[in-house]
Amino acid sequence: QAKQAGRNTVRFFDQQMQDAVTARVALEGELHKALDRQQFRLHYQIQVDASGRPLGAEALIRWMHPERGLVPPDQFIGMAEETDLILPIGQWVMDTACAQLKTWQQHAPTRDLVLAVNVSATQFHQLDFVFQVRATVQRHAIDPKLLKLELTESMLLENIEDTIRTMNALKEIGVQFSLDDFGTGYSSLQYLKRLPLDQIKIDQSFVRDIASDSNDREIVGTIIAMAQNLYLDVIAEGVETEEQRQFLQDNGCTHFQGYLFGKPVPVEQFEAMLQPDRAS
Ligand code: C2E
Ligand code: MG
Ligand code: MG
Ligand code: MG
Repeated sequence: QAKQAGRNTVRFFDQQMQDAVTARVALEGELHKALDRQQFRLHYQIQVDASGRPLGAEALIRWMHPERGLVPPDQFIGMAEETDLILPIGQWVMDTACAQLKTWQQHAPTRDLVLAVNVSATQFHQLDFVFQVRATVQRHAIDPKLLKLELTESMLLENIEDTIRTMNALKEIGVQFSLDDFGTGYSSLQYLKRLPLDQIKIDQSFVRDIASDSNDREIVGTIIAMAQNLYLDVIAEGVETEEQRQFLQDNGCTHFQGYLFGKPVPVEQFEAMLQPDRAS
């Protein structure tokens, strides 16, 4: 009896593992086709200053899947990174973002908006990454200072000397840098001050519990003070309540992003949010 159950258990796990492998292979195949079939979309989430004035947006990728609907990046970026599909996908993101910036630069309410683009570690560490960014910026003839690259701590610490060299070369093009998800990695102040950063982005995990967790309040205060010491802008992500916004502002945070101001939306909806005479 026990032996029977054991064998069934093994068979059960085999089946689960088999299903998981099948699902991964299917996902990889579909990801391959998604680019050709133009199934990726960029959504734009507004970033504001302390008075609520729009400063720019973060571009966030979505996969418009024919059967599954809108798939969020957490469900495919990992696989894209493992298979290096992140390289053509990342290039598509950069191209689409720069084309959008070009359009924005030509019209009054969007002219000075800065667009932040997430860069994956695989992309950043490509030998021709600087060349690719420069070529894309030139192809779209955009003002490079309106393009902000979001990098994460872990990808920068992989090889600090190469990282600094790459970042300095990109700085010469004129693009900006934001350090995404800050506080979740292990950067020391020593490293941070060597990087040509423009902005630090406080991770939403610290913002979420500001009202209830004095540790998180302490951490957020420390991050903002550190950013000020390094003469960096500081933006908080995941701001959902007025209480969170107020605490952040009282502690010197100057830039804000989160559902309180707007969710990531398609470009038409994003632009509608910028109209001063919009209803409600
Ligand atoms: P991230 O760069 O840290 O982006 C912030 C995430 O927080 C986004 O999730 C955004 O929708 C979400 N968010 C914004 N405000 C709030 C809020 O007030 N509350 C809550 N609960 N969430 C909020 P999303 O769009 O699902 O993206 C997840 C991650 O996927 C991103 O994290 C980024 O690491 C990655 N990603 C997104 N687009 C790209 C891309 O084009 N390329 C690469 N390489 N990665 C991307
Ligand atoms: Mg980001
Ligand atoms: Mg982030
Ligand atoms: Mg985050």
